[in-house]
Amino acid sequence: MDEKIVHGACLCEGIKFEAQLPSLWCAHCHCTQCQRFHGAPLVTWVGFAADRFRVTVGEHSLRWYASSAPAQRGYCGECGSSLFFRSTKWPDEMHVSLANIKDPLDREPEGHVFYDSHVNWLQLADNLPRKA
Ligand SMILES: [Zn+2]
Ligand SMILES: [Zn+2]
Repeated sequence: MDEKIVHGACLCEGIKFEAQLPSLWCAHCHCTQCQRFHGAPLVTWVGFAADRFRVTVGEHSLRWYASSAPAQRGYCGECGSSLFFRSTKWPDEMHVSLANIKDPLDREPEGHVFYDSHVNWLQLADNLPRKA
């Protein structure tokens, strides 16, 4: 049963979380909010059913920043790692940064979203679909 759960953490490991597979989807997001919040050219997100996801350690360190009216971004109040995304647009999902998950996922990234705001200083070599 353990192999069906993936575990993850922030940089300081003050926040640990786990999610039960299967995941719902996996995609690279190039939106400017992800770029700025994560300080990165893109963020690879994994969607989980909200009821299959839980913070196991450090819930008290978890902060939520309202990045738009429907959306909140979760980060560690100790080390600043940006970890999660949730939105009233997808109330039954928790989106988790793949880079913060330590265990193998049950799928590969399936595509790029918000590709119209991608940075021009990183070249991609995959053939995945690129949505505006
Ligand atoms: Zn932390
Ligand atoms: Zn994004």
